[in-house]
Amino acid sequence: MRHGDFARSREARYSQENALRGSAILTRPYIHPDAKSALHCDGVSLEALARRFGTPLYVYSAGHIAERLGLFERAFSGIPHVVCYAVKANSSLGILRLFAQRGAGFDIVSGGELERVLTVDRHAAERVVFSGIGKTAAEMDLALRSGILLFNVEGEGELELLSERAAKLRRRPRMALRVNPDVFAETHPYISTGMREHKFGIDIRRARALYKKAGKHLEPCGVSVHIGSQIRAADPFGAAAQRVAKLIAELRKDGHAIRYMDAGGGLGIEYHAERPFDAEAKVREYAAALMPAAESVGGITLLLEPGRFLVAQAGALLARVLYVKKNGAKTFVITDAAMNDLIRPALYQAYHEIVAVAPRRSSRKMVADVVGPVCETGDFFARDRELPPLKPGELVAILDAGAYGMSLASNYNSRPRAAEVLVEGRRARLIRRRENVDDMLATERLATGL
Ligand SMILES: *Cc1c(COP(=O)(O)O)cnc(C)c1O
Repeated sequence: MRHGDFARSREARYSQENALRGSAILTRPYIHPDAKSALHCDGVSLEALARRFGTPLYVYSAGHIAERLGLFERAFSGIPHVVCYAVKANSSLGILRLFAQRGAGFDIVSGGELERVLTVDRHAAERVVFSGIGKTAAEMDLALRSGILLFNVEGEGELELLSERAAKLRRRPRMALRVNPDVFAETHPYISTGMREHKFGIDIRRARALYKKAGKHLEPCGVSVHIGSQIRAADPFGAAAQRVAKLIAELRKDGHAIRYMDAGGGLGIEYHAERPFDAEAKVREYAAALMPAAESVGGITLLLEPGRFLVAQAGALLARVLYVKKNGAKTFVITDAAMNDLIRPALYQAYHEIVAVAPRRSSRKMVADVVGPVCETGDFFARDRELPPLKPGELVAILDAGAYGMSLASNYNSRPRAAEVLVEGRRARLIRRRENVDDMLATERLATGL
């Protein structure tokens, strides 16, 4: 069978499956029904994973993450570049290790993230860029001693402190200013960062003056930009890169040997399964928006900081239905996962597909809110969602939860955090055991005898 035929027959099977499951067409390559129509992550049954590791459970496909990284490597192969995975999207060691093994770099926003990266690969520092608007002296010192690739400096005060710490530790770190290009990009207001009124970066019009202040303890060698997250159109990235390229040309005239253009991250995915989404075409479009700007100034190594695009669609959150309850006209499906496990719907009104894991024999539907046990009305995964009829004890998979899921998990309501499993082909490995009560209480003291 030719590949195209295979893809078509798989698609046909997906739509048949999903008519029955009551969800939109499953276009998630990492999650698929087997011949008996039970849902699998790559070669492993979700039902089996839930039985073995319990729920709520994050399940990731290693193969899918590698594939996504490959899309970037191929699309940018025409220009010197480093893909620096944005650690905050999913900072679990098992995930970081996948990237380290494939030679990727890392974009970090804290000393803790640097410690994580160095834990998986103690030679990774040379591929680490350090972003963030609130770096402390201790975090700078750790990064200076580790010899990271690039500091992305976001303000004048930070520039002074970094210079001071560098002098103290007798280092001359490479640095870039993160400029604010004043580019509008359509996304949720909480994750838009590239406009003048945002707290991030430095007004691009003030950048030249600040580079002049860098002083002898710093090596200004790059310009950085990051306009926000979950941005689906390529044009804003292109517009920002062009402004950065113009600044690079000016800075070179001022005598700075600029050789890095850090284009940030933020490329968005499609969370709605029924809307078309071609990841490969997206990355190619993205590269076509960035590369001309980088090439126009020449002598540039492009740094890329994708987070969500690499890991979001490699992961699902498995949850078990505890109760199905009616209040007036509304039906609530109460799962054992909650907003402390996946906060995106509560925080950003984010949409996640939810599918029943067990095969369906009928095409009957119900409309329900899918909610967690946390005492907040904002604790929901879906509202007024059409779903196949669900019963207590059944498993559901909340899709595209690989990014900003586990990394934002908390112990709110004193709920231990979920376990995580990494699937590689037919093998499933626990990369984080479920938290227990002792873990949760370990740092606390009763403060008796005061
Ligand atoms: C969050 C962040 C990223 C990653 O954003 P995604 O939307 O996950 O790609 C990259 N760079 C910086 C500076 C960030 O803050």
